[in-house]
Amino acid sequence: MEKELAGLQVYKFGGASVKDAAAILNLCRIVKEYGGVGPLLIVVSAMGKTTNALEEIFGLAYAGKDYTAPLEVLESFHHNTAQELIINASPHLASDINVMLIETFFELSEQLAAVNVNRDYDEQYDQVVSFGELLASEMVAHVLNDAQQTRWIDCRLLIRTDENWREGRVSWPVTEQAITQALPPLLAKGPVVTQGFVGSTASGATTTLGREGSDYSAAIFAYCLRAESVTIWKDVPGLLNADPKLFADTVLYPEISYQETIEMAFYGASVIHPKTLKPLAERGIPLRVRSFLDPAAPGTLIHDCQHAPLVPAFIRKAGQCLVSFESKDFAFISEENLEVIFGALALARLKINVMQNSAISFSVVVDFDEMRLQRLLDALRGQFRVQYNSGLTLFTIKNYDEGSIARLTTGRKLLVEQRTRSTFQFLVRE
Ligand code: ASP
Ligand code: MG
Repeated sequence: MEKELAGLQVYKFGGASVKDAAAILNLCRIVKEYGGVGPLLIVVSAMGKTTNALEEIFGLAYAGKDYTAPLEVLESFHHNTAQELIINASPHLASDINVMLIETFFELSEQLAAVNVNRDYDEQYDQVVSFGELLASEMVAHVLNDAQQTRWIDCRLLIRTDENWREGRVSWPVTEQAITQALPPLLAKGPVVTQGFVGSTASGATTTLGREGSDYSAAIFAYCLRAESVTIWKDVPGLLNADPKLFADTVLYPEISYQETIEMAFYGASVIHPKTLKPLAERGIPLRVRSFLDPAAPGTLIHDCQHAPLVPAFIRKAGQCLVSFESKDFAFISEENLEVIFGALALARLKINVMQNSAISFSVVVDFDEMRLQRLLDALRGQFRVQYNSGLTLFTIKNYDEGSIARLTTGRKLLVEQRTRSTFQFLVRE
């Protein structure tokens, strides 16, 4: 590894931190004031709700419907942001940013025109939905470059995945080699900006790493480059015991272990993508969660540490679906049946959040996805009576006490309820 790379910091800026021109200018201030003098890699996700908009546009294209109106909205949103940046930064940025936007939107419209209902949905989704990160990262790089030489790099040259579309699995040796070869010489010259969420296959097709996967990208880069630390800049003060948009009187964890954080992310705490922690824990790289609205505040430090018992964490996961299987002849649910059910769930790519077994029925709680659920029903309806309810919400209380359970469950009808030593989970219709 090259010497210049000692002390590498990785900064990850999520959608909210680049949601408009003012946010992007704030990002530039943070880089200038807190980025230090050592090497800095900046991982950027798509602006605000761009990924949702691209999902909607792709859905229309796949259904053979007219998507021109939402595409125009997205394009003018990026153009208007660019004009504001040009006015607020320096005017000679104008031609670079404008050319980039025109070219990128041209490529996007070509991808959309090629969408074909007879080809794999997930594969084509990745080719379209990945554009948000490309657009945002290029805008950020142009504006940063105005003040200090800043390179932009397409992360598809670096992050190699398999063809597990929409949730690409990283091929670590190839990725590590590409990253350690390409990035150190660039980082030695100044900050480098790249994209979160996106990768590519061996044949060069674009993949994505799963919604909200930019945190994971930051961890991949940090792991490969043995970074000194990763900082995720968010619109919350740090890692809280609940989402402040949903709960009043939240508490900040100033310091917390990898293990606690991995579990919270697994249960659906939206502050960090669940895959982020493992690569960091493996190389002992500390993760800071800090607020881009209050960058001087210390935020949360996630690292290898011992701490006193934590206050209960409240985690809400909406969009859940309860699926129950009964054998058609009232036979007991056997290991052989479970093997068939688990196999079909894995093939349909539905992940189990909670499961429960009774004499003649077996139930699972999964994230609702209409297409995947249909695949499951097609596979199992011959053998089982399958019923499902969607529109449900799963709550998890981690490190619960009786008071925290009463606070959340009183007056609610619990469809499923489960208690382990450290978690209390229940499913409700909200
Ligand atoms: N832009 C992607 C998403 O909204 C990835 C990310 O934000 O981390 O899911
Ligand atoms: Mg995001």
